[in-house]
Amino acid sequence: MDRLAQRKKIMETKINAITRYTQNEETCRTRQLVSYFGEKDAERCGVCDVCVKEDKGKLSPGSSGTGESRTGRAGEKTSVQALMHKLDAEESRILETLQFLIAEGLVLRDGDGLLIAAKP
Ligand SMILES: [Zn+2]
Repeated sequence: MDRLAQRKKIMETKINAITRYTQNEETCRTRQLVSYFGEKDAERCGVCDVCVKEDKGKLSPGSSGTGESRTGRAGEKTSVQALMHKLDAEESRILETLQFLIAEGLVLRDGDGLLIAAKP
């Protein structure tokens, strides 16, 4: 009877998780997604924009201090395969969530099929 309300609640839960996913720029996005799927102690993926940004910071010893430009925007891509590889969750659940993200316009796919977190 109240299926619609139930669905709505599930959607809200998803949206909340997704909102966190797209807004948290300090935690590896795969880890965020992984924790959404119930995996608490996943390792950083090394390929998402957060990891890349972090690695860049480590790799450039010369650029200390000031004008640390937040230009990570262009690199916010990750592949479905990368997520699949790291997520110890059911493939169907991952795909379902990704499809939802894409349908909601929160995640975009580029020409190469890479996933890009859309910015609000
Ligand atoms: Zn990462």
